[in-house]
Formats: sequence, structure tokens, C-alpha cells
Amino acid sequence: MNNETLDFQVEHPSNSVQALRDSIATWLVYAVGKDPTSATQRDWLFAIVYAVRERIMDRWSETRRRTREQDAKQLYYLSMEFLMGRMLTNALMAAGIYEETRAACALLGADFDALANLEAEPGLGNGGLGRLAACFMDSLATLGLPAMGYGIRYDYGMFTQRIVDGRQVEEPDNWLAGGNPWEFVRPEAGCTVHFGGRVVPGEGGALAWVDPAEDVIATAYDTPVPGYQLHAVATLRLWSARDSDTINLEAFNQGDYFRAVEAKNEAENVSRVLYPEDSTERGRELRLRQEYFFVSASIQDIVRRFLRDHGNFDQFADKVAIHLNDTHPALAVPELMRLLVDEQRLGWDTAWSLCTRVFSYTNHTLMPEALETWSVDLLGRLLPRHLRIIYDINARFLAQVHEQHPDDNDLPRRVSLIEEDGVRRVRMAFLCVLASHKVNGVSQLHTELMQRSIFADFAHIFPERFCNKTNGITPRRWLAQANRPLSALIDAHVGTDWRRDLDEQLVALKPLAADPVFNNAVRLAKQQNKQRLADYIAREPGVQLNIESLFDVQVKRIHEYKRQLLNLLHVITRYHQIQARPQADWVPRTVIFGGKAAFAYQMAKKIIRLINDVARTINNDPVVGNRLKVVFVPNYRVTLAELIIPAADLSEQISLAGTEASGTGNMKFALNGALTIGTWDGANIEIAQQVGLDNIFIFGHRAEEVAELRAKGYRPRSYYEQNYDLKTAIDRIADGTFSPQEPQRYHDVVNVLLETDYFQLLADYADYVATQQRVDALYRDPSEWTRKAILNIASMGWFSSDRTIQEYADEIWALKPIA
Ligand SMILES: *Cc1c(COP(=O)(O)O)cnc(C)c1O
Repeated sequence: MNNETLDFQVEHPSNSVQALRDSIATWLVYAVGKDPTSATQRDWLFAIVYAVRERIMDRWSETRRRTREQDAKQLYYLSMEFLMGRMLTNALMAAGIYEETRAACALLGADFDALANLEAEPGLGNGGLGRLAACFMDSLATLGLPAMGYGIRYDYGMFTQRIVDGRQVEEPDNWLAGGNPWEFVRPEAGCTVHFGGRVVPGEGGALAWVDPAEDVIATAYDTPVPGYQLHAVATLRLWSARDSDTINLEAFNQGDYFRAVEAKNEAENVSRVLYPEDSTERGRELRLRQEYFFVSASIQDIVRRFLRDHGNFDQFADKVAIHLNDTHPALAVPELMRLLVDEQRLGWDTAWSLCTRVFSYTNHTLMPEALETWSVDLLGRLLPRHLRIIYDINARFLAQVHEQHPDDNDLPRRVSLIEEDGVRRVRMAFLCVLASHKVNGVSQLHTELMQRSIFADFAHIFPERFCNKTNGITPRRWLAQANRPLSALIDAHVGTDWRRDLDEQLVALKPLAADPVFNNAVRLAKQQNKQRLADYIAREPGVQLNIESLFDVQVKRIHEYKRQLLNLLHVITRYHQIQARPQADWVPRTVIFGGKAAFAYQMAKKIIRLINDVARTINNDPVVGNRLKVVFVPNYRVTLAELIIPAADLSEQISLAGTEASGTGNMKFALNGALTIGTWDGANIEIAQQVGLDNIFIFGHRAEEVAELRAKGYRPRSYYEQNYDLKTAIDRIADGTFSPQEPQRYHDVVNVLLETDYFQLLADYADYVATQQRVDALYRDPSEWTRKAILNIASMGWFSSDRTIQEYADEIWALKPIA
């Protein structure tokens, strides 16, 4: 088609209730293919989604058209995970048609809330890292920054967690089974990704990668990410693996149809399933394939898009920024080098200079077991050309290091991209640091520790490269969408602009903290949210809650460093004290847990089981009654977070100091008016700085004390022997009080606590329990509690991911909004 001669206008559909009603009905008939008499709930949901989509599409096209017309610099955000959550309500609110659509549904006799609850949730991430990427996409769109997120369209996302007899059972999350009305397949953006083969000398002394053993086709699926008020609509481009037809032609021609199809399945396994965050060696090769698959497709796409509008690479670094969300996309570095040097025939130095100008990298963890390395053997087998490129990058770097720091003979070994002791492995984090012009941590403390520990040598060699970008959360999802009672109240007092200007607008609530009418209204909003959660929990897992009790919540991935067991030790201690003095004046508490354990992480699974055993014992003890309830809410995910977090009075952020890089759950809770009980860790520190130490409960050892204890030779047993309550709590776990059918069940848990206790739960226990008593005392004074909650809400504006993204745009990406 000749685009020059086409001249037509599309008209943005009306947003009136009538027009929406007509749209939904029309889409039902003409796109879903049903009429109202035969339509299922799913059919109605799809019709609504199509009607909303219709009102987003022209803004999406316009965002892309303007970006191209203005030849604007574009950000490409590479992330193995995007934990987007459901899209419908978010899209309706972004388009400003939430109430109108509800009304339209009512006219059609449809129950909007029930339909919205049917939407499949794309759980394409494990936890915080994937959710951060999703909040960032929302902020990029809202700020009108030209951006595309690249990731993998996993057929199966994060598993569904069921609790059976107290234990986690995983079920596959077949989220695409019913179809996905939000995605658009873009076959024209497809490309081929090669694996295997050999490296041979090519033309003019260059190297060539030949005879790949396997080709996989990457197909692009685009999802619009609407910014607030549709200011702009960003694109999330997810890659799906398909077999390349050519590779199996031989088998097919020989009439071996089944062999051809089998190979096809193998290739398609690459995008089959989301990888768990804590995984064993098993299937590591598949993980490496996934990483390269998505990175290669994305880099090819970026280069193709750039060359579409530019004749050469002179402006590449002025028009392209590529961000690496953790090291998972680190192969983007050798892949871009390969494309520039082998295929585009640029000189090595030119290509490397472009790399270091376009790449930037976020580090998310300092934990040694989470730092990615790949064995040279595996890399050499799967990606021989990339291994050679990594060697070449390393050789040049080590020569430079030797020249600039001739006195430090050990430095080259320490900073080498190749770990030489034992099996030779490539250190992906070092590769990212070397290739990036900026490397950031995700909270002040984490950035400091990062420069003092894993990247100490690099911080010395490239001091200007390191910076901090404290994480944030989008107020659109985590306040406007999740907490409508509180949002309505804020709207009534300070207007609606906080949705896109959280930092400036929320502070206006501060003077209202002392206003008894406002105080009462905030308390009522919290009660409504608690009732909504109590109604849910009455069905699942089926426990009756007293909404007057203090809702004490810890929801996040189950991990030893997050210390759910410390929380549980307090619960058990409280249980014993209630048993000893049932008639004392107890502040009633409901302790709510939620979170998934990686399926190979046995200790985390044990912790889930123990929580459920303790919950059953306490909830069925007639002596306890309403004074204490414990619930484990199954299948924690974004949708449940939206239900649970607004209902929390107390937010548990109790990781061992120095282990939680930032946390974002902590921000969601405080923004929704929960008070935090937390350690001096990650973004808790910055939350404390914003809300004031009077309005947060901080306890426990600090990072430097943790390190000192460890250096001195930490002895958990001494705490156990010297603290009667602690000893009793641990002894009850050990003696089978919570697992009478199998008294030995938790011996391994008790052993870890008493013998190693790497995360120093026992050292922080006494201060934690004492701090929980201060929490009780404050909760006895509801208006004082709520006053502090209001001060928390009013002080959380800085934690909007809009602030975080603006900092990235200004200081890392040099990215300007589309005009
Ligand atoms: C915010 C969020 C997380 C991260 O929580 P942390 O407390 O920071 O670990 C994990 N999972 C989901 C579903 C979330 O919404």
C-alpha cells in the first residue's frame, strides 16, 4: 500500500455511558461472535476489553508516530520479568472511563466487578523485580517518555499456589488458555535466533559464526501500556519462541512428520515457562537459552528499528538507550557487539564505544548465590561467538587495568570477567558493569554496600559510573486502583492531581493529620478495606476475622532472608503469653501471611508449612479466642496484593539489615496508611527519613552490626539459652506442639536456627518482641495510631515510581518526553 496517498481520518469514539454500552454490545456481536442471549461471562469480559482498547489505540499510534517523527531518543527496557497484574481496571482508569464503563455494564445487566475478577492475570515474574518493571512501564507512559519494554511471553507464568494440608502445592498457570485480548501479534517484527555452531575465520581477518545447530523464531506480541490520562501509551513487546520451519524440512521431507513436530516442541520450550528465582542446576541450560533468545530478538529489533530511520550508526547512542534490569539480559552486550562488528562491519573500538554509551544496568541483589555466572563450557557450546567476544572484551579490559594499576598484581584476577578458580565461569555482573555507562543500586544503603562489596574494585576503577536510584511504585495501581475508599477521601481534600504528581500533592494531607473529622474518615476507610479482606478470607482460607483487631501483615516471597520465621517466633511467644494470662488486656491481633516459595527451595516450603501448622493450632485453641488469629492467604500475586495491602494496619518489613536491596512492598503499605515495623534495611531507611522516626517502628541490628557479629563468630545458641521466651518458642516448635502427628517435622528448621542462623533471627528477636509491644500500646489509641498513619500517607509522595523514572531519564538515559 502506498502510505503517501492514503488520506483518512479515524474518529476517537465517545466516552459517554451510552456510547460505551453500544461499543460493548457491538464488540460482543462482531468481535467475540456472540449475542447477549448466548454470551458467557468471558465473552462479556472480552467485549468490554475490546471497547476499552478501542479508546486507547489512537493514542498508542500517536505515541509511536510522534516518537518517530521527532526522531526522539528511545529507551529499551530489557527485563526477564514483567509482573503487570490485571489490565482492565488500570486501563479504564488511565482512559478516564472507569465509572462510565461500570454504568454501561449496569445498563447491559452485567456485573462489572464479577467480570473484572475473571480477567487472567499475567504473572510473568517472580516478585519485586518483575513488579518494579511493571511500575516503571506505567511511569514511562505517564511521563510521556518514548519507551519499549522487552521481555518473554511465557506460556506459563508464575505457578498457582494451593495449600493442601498446610503444604504448598504448585499448579501450572496456563494464563493464555482463554485467549489474551490485550496483545497484538506483530509477525513483521519477528526474527531468528541461532544456537550452537562454530566460530571460523571469515573475510578480512574477521570471525564468522557458522552452522548453528538450532534456529528458533522469535515472534513479537505487543501490549499497550496506557499512561495516566492517556498522556502517552507505551509498548510492552514480549517474545514467543516458534520453531523455524527450515530446520525440520529434512525430517519432514523424509516423511518423518512426528520427528519434525517433536523438534518443533523443543524449540518452542524456550518461552514455555517462567524460571523460578531460586533454582538448582536442573534446567540451567534452558534458562540460558531463554536469556539469549529474548536478548537476541530484542537487540536485533532495536538495530532494525534504528536502521529503518538512519543510514549509519553515527547517531546510535543519541537515539538509543538500553537498560539491563539485573544481569539476566547481560548477553545483550556481546550480542550488540556481534551485530555491530560481524554483521554491520564496524571496527571493534567504535562498536565498544557505542555499547558503553547505550547500556546501563541495575543491580538488584548482593547475595552471592543470586549473582549470575555461566560456565565457559556451556556458553561455548551454546553461543561460541559470544564467548569469544566476552574473551576479547576481557583481554582489552585486563590490559587497561594492568596499565593503569601496575602496583596491584592481584587486581586483574579480581576484576576478570572470567572466574578462574575451579570450573571457569563468566561473571555476568562484571560484564554489565564494564559495558554500562551507569550502574545503579535501588536504595541508598544497597548502593553503598554494592560499591563496598561486590563492585569495590570497579567502583575504584570507574567511580563516576555508580549511582543510586531508589525504587518506587506507581500510585495509579497501588493507591487509586487498589484503595478506592482512601482515594476518594484524598480526592475530596486535595483534589485528584496526586495520581500524576504524588510528591507535590500528598503533603497537603499533613495538616489534616490533626483534624479529628479527617482522622475518623481515614479510620473508616481502613475499616472498609479490612472488611473487604475479611470477606475474602472467610471464603479463602475460610477463617473468620475480627476487623477491630490489628491486621499485622507480611506478604512477599517466602525467603529466609526476609525472616518470616522471626514473625512466627513472635506469634508463638504471644500465643504462650495469652495461654498464661488469658484474662489480661490483650490487643486483639490478626497476623496475615502470604507468599510463594520457589518450588526447589525446601526450607521456604517448610516455613509455609510451619506457618499453617501454627495457624491451625492457635485458631483452634479455645483459650485464645479472638485475641490472636493467624492466616496464610494462598496464591499471593498482584491481584491479592491489591486486596491485602490497603487492609493492613501493620506492615512487616523485617529482613536482616543489609539483605533486602530496597523492597517495594514496604512502600505500598505505607502509602496505604499502614505503619511499618521494620529493620534498618533497604528502602525502610528512606521511608523512615520521609515519615520521621516517630511514625515508624524500627528495631534490630544495623548492617554494620550484623557484619561485626558475623566476624566475631555469631553464636545463635547463646540467645536461645539466655532468653526464656525465645527458648520456649523454639522448644515448642521442636517438641511437636504444632505438629503432634509428626513431632519431628521441624527438627531441620530448629537445627538451622540453633546451629547457623545465618540471617540472625535470634539476635534480633528480643528487640522485635519489645517493639511489637510498643505497637500494641499505640494501637490502643486509635486516633493517635491513625494520626501517624496519615503522616505516613502524606510523606510517601517521594516513593512514586514517577520520581524514580524521572531520575533515570535525567541522570542515566538522557531521555526527553515526546513533544
Ligand atoms: C510489590 C510486590 C512484591 C515485592 O514485595 P517485597 O515486600 O518488596 O518483597 C512481590 N510480589 C508482589 C505480587 C508484589 O506486588
